[in-house]
Amino acid sequence: MVSNKIPFLDLVTPHAELREELRKVFEQALETASFIGGPMVEGFERDFAAFCETNHCVGVGSGTDALRFALIAAGVGPGDAVLTVPNTFIATTEAISQAGARPVFVDIDEATYNLDPQKLRAHLEQNCSRNAEGTLVDERTKCRVKAIIPVHLYGQMADMDAILAIAEQYNLIVIEDACQAHGAKYFSKKLDRWCKAGSMGRAAAFSFYPGKNLGACGEAGAVTTNDAELAKKMRMLRDHGQARKYHHEMEGYNGRLDSIQAGLLHVKLRHLQEWTVLRQNAAERYRALFCREDLSVTLPYNPEWSDAVYHLFIVRTDDRDELMKHLGAAGIGTGIHYPIPLHLQQAYEFMGYRRGDFPVAERVSAEIVSLPMFPHLTEDQQRVVVGEIGKYLEKAVGV
Ligand SMILES: *Cc1c(COP(=O)(O)O)cnc(C)c1O
Repeated sequence: MVSNKIPFLDLVTPHAELREELRKVFEQALETASFIGGPMVEGFERDFAAFCETNHCVGVGSGTDALRFALIAAGVGPGDAVLTVPNTFIATTEAISQAGARPVFVDIDEATYNLDPQKLRAHLEQNCSRNAEGTLVDERTKCRVKAIIPVHLYGQMADMDAILAIAEQYNLIVIEDACQAHGAKYFSKKLDRWCKAGSMGRAAAFSFYPGKNLGACGEAGAVTTNDAELAKKMRMLRDHGQARKYHHEMEGYNGRLDSIQAGLLHVKLRHLQEWTVLRQNAAERYRALFCREDLSVTLPYNPEWSDAVYHLFIVRTDDRDELMKHLGAAGIGTGIHYPIPLHLQQAYEFMGYRRGDFPVAERVSAEIVSLPMFPHLTEDQQRVVVGEIGKYLEKAVGV
């Protein structure tokens, strides 16, 4: 029965196709013994900055490093509150805490699953107040409101015009979490043009964890920015606070990007655009198949200002857990991104949030399921996935 398994993710095929090119990177690294820094890292940084339409890219050890270094370099630290969403991977809030600041959650928009600008404004107006010095203080944490991290979840950018306008009004730093959004675009009405993920905030964090749209063969990440001063600070932070060997202007971290990973990423970057188109085509095929079958599941909402890159393809249904069991038995891989909103995680019990505090994130987390999505997903595989969902839903309503 499981002979025609459909995986959630296929990391083997893209590497098989590029085997010779990737092998050359290893050979070159062995021949030159250049393992940390050097031309492979610089070459990748140059081309990834160009891909994101930014002036600078700083390669680091992971997406978590990227978020942490961007926050610290931008001046976020102890006594500061950083606003973000509860439906993200915990790395977003770990980076805030590790910078010494406090995460504060704002609920999401039910259609896009991203930060809701109206709720962001409401939080700033209703849950924050000016102290005697005129500093905006978050009442729950008693911390200065300093920054916002919009997360471009599932490959779709948050509503950046609205978020940037609020940030400007309240003088807040915006760091994009673009860890799932390599190549995604947002149409800015303000700038009257399409903008790439990673180019709109003060800085942006990317992850190259193997399953991401651009993935390394190990751990890797990067920060993009147009701010030369910030880029310089982040280059020091990733390398023990030094710009010159053994001259430490501050304490930093061991957060560099390996040369081998940079070389592999550089090869794969040349194929990213074609892989993105394949993902977008697969997303369109899912939509057509779901339409044809007339199935009552909620499909991803794609506003006209968004050009999403479908890191994940999410559908929503009441009976999520049983549906996943049915698909699993049929040999179809699925996932939940994410099953427990961060404010209800044990790690954040001390913050004192309760169920009901972020009703949209909570409702969505109980109903979403991530279907197989990767560039080489075939129409036949998708037909099987949608067919099995149809079979399950018909059974569930007793047809
Ligand atoms: C993957 C991911 C991260 C963390 O990236 P790592 O490279 O695993 O450290 C952060 N935020 C989001 C939204 C992610 O998906």
